[in-house]
Amino acid sequence: MTTQNTEQTNLALTMLSEDERLFRDSVYEFADREIRPLVREMDEHAKIEKPLVDKLFDLGVMAIEIPESYGGGGARFFHAVLAVEALSRVDPSIGVLVDVQNTLVINALLRWGNEDTRRRFLPRLAASTIGAYALSEAGSGSDAFALATRAIERGDDWIITGRKLWITNGNEADLFIVFATVNPEAGYRGITAFLVERGFPGFTVGRKEDKLGIRASSTCELLLEECRVPRAHVLGEAGKGYKVAIETLNEGRIGIGAQMIGLAQGALDHAIGYVKTRRQFGKAIADFQAVQHQLARAATELEAARLMVYNAARLRDAGQPFLTEAAMCKLFSSEVAERVTSLAVNLYGGYGFVKDYPVEKLYRDAKIGQIYEGTSNLQLQTIAKQLIG
Ligand SMILES: Cc1cc2nc3c(=O)[nH]c(=O)nc-3n(C[C@H](O)[C@H](O)[C@H](O)COP(=O)(O)OP(=O)(O)OC[C@H]3O[C@@H](n4cnc5c(N)ncnc54)[C@H](O)[C@@H]3O)c2cc1C
Repeated sequence: MTTQNTEQTNLALTMLSEDERLFRDSVYEFADREIRPLVREMDEHAKIEKPLVDKLFDLGVMAIEIPESYGGGGARFFHAVLAVEALSRVDPSIGVLVDVQNTLVINALLRWGNEDTRRRFLPRLAASTIGAYALSEAGSGSDAFALATRAIERGDDWIITGRKLWITNGNEADLFIVFATVNPEAGYRGITAFLVERGFPGFTVGRKEDKLGIRASSTCELLLEECRVPRAHVLGEAGKGYKVAIETLNEGRIGIGAQMIGLAQGALDHAIGYVKTRRQFGKAIADFQAVQHQLARAATELEAARLMVYNAARLRDAGQPFLTEAAMCKLFSSEVAERVTSLAVNLYGGYGFVKDYPVEKLYRDAKIGQIYEGTSNLQLQTIAKQLIG
C-alpha cells in the first residue's frame, strides 16, 4: 500500500516533494518581499542593483546545482526550474539572471569542466561571481555555428578576436563562456568554448541594449580584441564547443519555459485580484461569465504549459531523453505567456496600458520567450526533425 502511494505521488508532475515545495515557497516569499517593491524602478532604470544580487547569492539561488563541497546547494535541475519560475512570477528579469547562471553557465561547467576548472570556478560562482554565456553575434543568431569570433594559438595561450552580441548578464558578469572558432574551415567542428574573465587584456563589455522587455536584465555587446586566454581556460576540448553549446542550450530552454510560466502566473495573479475589485454595471467585473471563462481558459493553458516544463525538467533529472519535450515546453509556454499577459492587459482595461499597474510590463517581458535560446521557428524545426527525421 505504501509503495503504491509513493508510485502514485511520483506520477503527479506538479506534486512537489517536501524539499522542493519548501525551496519554491522560500524563493517566492523572497521575491515577493525583496524584489516586488523594486520591480518598477528596475524596469525604468534598466538596472539590477548590487544589493539585490548579493541577496540572491545569500538565498542560494545562484548556485543551485553546484555540489555542496564547492559551496553550492547540491540540488537538482528541477530546483533551478522552480526558482526561475518563482522569481519570474514577480520579475522575469531576475528570473533570467538566475536562469543563465544556473542552467547555462554552471550547467556547462559541471558537465564539461575538468577537475581543475571546477575547483577554480565553481566556488566563485557559488559565492559572488555572476556568469554569462556568449554564443550569438551580429551575423549569427539562429545559425549560431556560423560565428566569426576567431581563436588562434600563441604559445600557452589562445588569442581571441571578435564581437559578441546580446549577452545576458553582460553588465554584472565576471565570468563569460565565450564561443569562438579555432578553425573556420572545419565549420562547427572548429567551435570551442573558452572561460574568459572580466579584466583579461583585450576584453571589454560594450554597449547595453535598450529593450522592449526584461529591461532590468542587462543585454550587452562583448568586444574581444586579441584577448589573451590561458590554455587551461578551454571548457571541454578544442573543437568540441558545438557540443557544449547544443547540450547546455537543450537544457537551458527548459529554464526559459520556467521563466514564461512564472511570468504568466504573475499576470494571472494580478488579473484575478483586479477583476474582483473593479466594478462596472453595478458589479465586480469578475461576476461576468465572459470574464470568468477568459480566466478559466488562461489558467488551463498555463497548467498545460507548467506540466510540459516540469515534465521536461524531470526527464532531464532522470537521465531520460528530453530534447523534444524541452523544445515543446519552450515553444508552448512562451505562446501561453504572450496570451495570458495580453488577457491581463485587456482585463485591466485602460489601466492595463499604463505603467502604474504591473501587467503592461509583464506583457512586454513575455515577448522575449519566443526569441532567445532558439526562436519559436527553431523550436518547431527541432520538434519536426524528431517527428520526421
Ligand atoms: C534580450 C536578449 C537576450 C539574449 N541573451 C543571449 C545570451 O545571453 N547569449 C547569447 O549567446 N545570445 C543571446 N541572445 C541572442 C538570441 O539567442 C538570438 O537573438 C536568437 O537566437 C535569434 O537570433 P537573431 O536575433 O540573429 O535572429 P535570426 O536568426 O536572424 O532570426 C530572425 C527570424 O528568422 C527566423 N529564422 C531564422 N532561421 C530560420 C530557419 N532556419 N527556419 C525558419 N525561420 C528561421 C527566426 O525564427 C526569426 O523569426 C539574446 C537575445 C536577446 C534579444
